[in-house]
Amino acid sequence: LASLVGLYTSLQEAIGASKRVFQILDTQPEVQDRPGARTLTGAQGRISFENVSFSYEVRQEVLRDITLEIAPGEIIALVGPSGAGKSTFFNLIPRFYDPTAGALKLDGVDLRDLTQATLREQIGIVPQETLLFGGSIRDNILYGRLEADGAALEVAARAANAHDFIVSLPDGYDTIVGDRGIRLSGGQRQRIAIARAILKDPRILLLDEATSSLDSESEHEVQEALGRLMQGRTTVIIAHRLSTVRVAHRIIVLDGGRIAEMGTHEALLARDGMYARLHAMQFRTDLLGEAL
Ligand code: ATP
Repeated sequence: LASLVGLYTSLQEAIGASKRVFQILDTQPEVQDRPGARTLTGAQGRISFENVSFSYEVRQEVLRDITLEIAPGEIIALVGPSGAGKSTFFNLIPRFYDPTAGALKLDGVDLRDLTQATLREQIGIVPQETLLFGGSIRDNILYGRLEADGAALEVAARAANAHDFIVSLPDGYDTIVGDRGIRLSGGQRQRIAIARAILKDPRILLLDEATSSLDSESEHEVQEALGRLMQGRTTVIIAHRLSTVRVAHRIIVLDGGRIAEMGTHEALLARDGMYARLHAMQFRTDLLGEAL
C-alpha cells in the first residue's frame, strides 16, 4: 500500500511534467513559411541587408538601419564590443528571427518569400560550441547530409583534419560520442562540426568562432580546416582571432547596433578608430602568442 501511494505521487508529478512538455512541443514558431513561399535551387550566395532594424523587445533596437551587400564568396568578419548585436546580425541570416523593419535578401529574393527549408539548405552553421548527438561519429558527420555515402564522408573528414584522429579511436567512425560515449576535446569536436559543414556543402557559411583557446597544434588543425571550408562560400564570421580578421575580405565593426566602421584589416588599423582600439584589446593575447 505504501508503494502504491508513492507510485500515485510519481504519477501525478509525471502528468504535470508531460503537460508542460506538450505545451512546449505545441508552441508555434514565430517565423512561418508564407503561403506560396518559393524554393530556390543553385543559390549564388549574395546576401543583402536593406535598412534592416531589429528589436527583441519594443522600443529597444538591437540593430539599427543596417544596409550592406555581401558578395557571393566574400568573407566578412563581424567584430564589436559585447552586446553590439553581432549574434543578432548573424541569426537574421538563417531567419531565426525576422527583421522588425527593412528586408534581408538572398540573391535579391526577400527571405520571407523563400521556404525556410530551402533557405537553410543553403546555409551551414559552425557554432561556438559544437553539439554532438549521442551516437557514432559517422552519424554525427552525416547529420550534414544524411544521404551521403562512406566515400564522401571520408573526404569531408579528411578536409576537416578529422580523419586521422577518428581512425585512431578504438572503433573509428563507429565510436560512440555524446553523453554516453567518449569525450572528445574541444578542437576535435570543432573539426567534426567542420566535417559536417563540408559534407553539407552550403553556399553560405555562418561561423561563430570559439573564444576558448585550444592548444597550438589543435588551433593550427582547426584553422587549416576552416580555411578549406570557407573557400568559395559567402562567409560571415563572428571573429575572435587575429588570424581570422586578417583573412577576411571585409571587417564590419558593429557598435550599438550600427555599422561603425567597415574595411580591410589594414585600412581599419590605419584609420585608428574603434577597430584599432578593439584590436589592441581583443587580440593582444594572440599577438603575444605569435611573438612567442
Ligand atoms: P556578445 O559579443 O556578448 O555575444 P553580441 O554583439 O553578439 O554580444 P547580441 O547577442 O546580438 O550581441 O545582443 C545585442 C543586444 O540584444 C544585447 O543588449 C542583448 O542583451 C540583447 N539580446 C540578445 N538576445 C536577446 C533575446 N533573445 N531577447 C532579448 N534581448 C536579447
